[in-house]
Amino acid sequence: MSLKLPMKFRELVDIELSDVEQPDTVWLANAACALTEDACGWSGWILDGVFKTKGSGGGAENSAATNLPSPDDQICPRCGKALFRTGVDLKFSTADDQSRTFELSAYETEPIEFIDATVKGK
Ligand SMILES: [Zn+2]
Repeated sequence: MSLKLPMKFRELVDIELSDVEQPDTVWLANAACALTEDACGWSGWILDGVFKTKGSGGGAENSAATNLPSPDDQICPRCGKALFRTGVDLKFSTADDQSRTFELSAYETEPIEFIDATVKGK
C-alpha cells in the first residue's frame, strides 16, 4: 500500500528542510469562536504570521521581513465560522536545538508513489 500523489507536485512534496525558505519568527494569536450567538465557543491558538527576518534587515515588525505562506485565516477548526482574535499574541523564534524532546501527533506513514497522469496506461 502506498500513497499515490501526482507527479507534477513531486518537487513540492519530496523535499528536505534545505529545499524550502525557512522562517525564523512565528506569531501565534489567541482566538475564540464567539462572534455570533450560535458560535461553537472553540478557543485556541491560530497562526498569525510566519516570517523570515534574517537577511531582510529587521524584526518581524519590520516591513522588510518576508511573510512566508501559511494558513493564517481566521476560521474556526470546529464549526467553520469566523473567529474573533482576542488581541493575545505570542512571538516565537527558531530554536538552535531542533531535536524533538516530545512526540508530536502520532500518525502512520505510508510510502509515497508519484503518478504521472500524462503517461497513458498508468
Ligand atoms: Zn466554532
